[in-house]
Amino acid sequence: MKKVQIRQKKSQKYKGHYPLIKAEDMVNAQDECKKWVSFYSEKDEFLGYGYLGKQHKGSGWIVSFSENQPIDKSFLVHLFNEAKDYRSTFFADEATTAFRLFNGEGDGLGGVTIDWYAGFLVVSWYNDTIYQLKKEILEALMSSNIKYQGIYEKIRFNTKEVPESAFLSGKQAPEPLLIKENNITYATYLNEGLMTGIFLDQRQVRGRLTDNYAIGKTVLNTFSYTGAFSIASAMGGAVSTISVDLAKRSRQKTQEQFAVNGLSTDNQSIIVMDVFDYFKYAFKKQVTCDIVVMDPPSFARNKKKVFSVAKDYQQLTTEAVALLNKDGLLVASTNAANVSLDKFRKMVELGIKETGRAFTFLELYQLPEDFRVAKEFNEGNYLKVLFYRVK
Ligand code: SAH
Repeated sequence: MKKVQIRQKKSQKYKGHYPLIKAEDMVNAQDECKKWVSFYSEKDEFLGYGYLGKQHKGSGWIVSFSENQPIDKSFLVHLFNEAKDYRSTFFADEATTAFRLFNGEGDGLGGVTIDWYAGFLVVSWYNDTIYQLKKEILEALMSSNIKYQGIYEKIRFNTKEVPESAFLSGKQAPEPLLIKENNITYATYLNEGLMTGIFLDQRQVRGRLTDNYAIGKTVLNTFSYTGAFSIASAMGGAVSTISVDLAKRSRQKTQEQFAVNGLSTDNQSIIVMDVFDYFKYAFKKQVTCDIVVMDPPSFARNKKKVFSVAKDYQQLTTEAVALLNKDGLLVASTNAANVSLDKFRKMVELGIKETGRAFTFLELYQLPEDFRVAKEFNEGNYLKVLFYRVK
């Protein structure tokens, strides 16, 4: 097995089970190696078994920190069985049939996640090395206690060699595959590009809207995709919703989500438009609402401009608050891993202050329990959702 040397000074954090290998921590620049490797300090102290693979800011993952526990089939089977046991309450809950079953480094193997969609598995590969090791990983998965009907895969790294989505084995899922979350139905498609129709990490936020905030309110859902926040609000008794997304597909996808819950779309508007254009339009038409949800992509390029959370969220907030009624609820969400919770909170609060209105912070949501985060790697908790009451 290839041995990779880590700078002595940097080896301490890996001894403390930090799992992400940083390029600058290695003594030598490494060539491609699509196999398991071992990591040692310059004094030849064992640090871990893992692999080299480029993924965002990392260059590899340590998977086993114990010298007498190499990465083999039984080790991987054990990881999957553990991941399943950790989610026993999810498997037992009939109200929610889709959740994260294996969350990369949070479950002990960085670079791969598995989502459970009512008996079907969606495996995501985040770098090319883990993808090259896929046969071994899938064999372990198939030998684990996880019983499933079929497997799909998503390729979440840059490559032109393979399609970004594929059916792998077992039975194919119906299209749409109806899943439940807090007893609300969502139509999902497991083999349509990278996205399935629902972002499972927002379950608690949708639940909060349904159970605590939506009743009797008017809701504006910006960057709405398939309208999941709108459906959750409508099911919680919202009087009307407006879903705004640039993508043409969003109209039919959102209609479908209302339909599968038996909701009429009479009081629901679905608008295909750039959110910033919509803000101008709504301001002119004096459209206002009681709740605004903002959940943009970390980074998006539109014809005219580039939006990034790090640069533009403050302005987005200011424009959103302009449409918010007195004592309205602002839900500000981001999954941008490059923006810390502190920075995000500052941007949102500066954005509200800009309007001159007083506000109180209500609550924060980050990743739910099934999106397990390693305690040594809290930066894996990328989701940040802030709730504010704006006077
Ligand atoms: N909030 C959604 C997920 C949003 S995904 C949910 O909970 O399911 C991001 C969405 O933003 C995509 O659907 C994309 O089409 C849309 N989008 C990106 N830039 C946009 C813009 N400038 N105006 C409107 N929608 C935009």
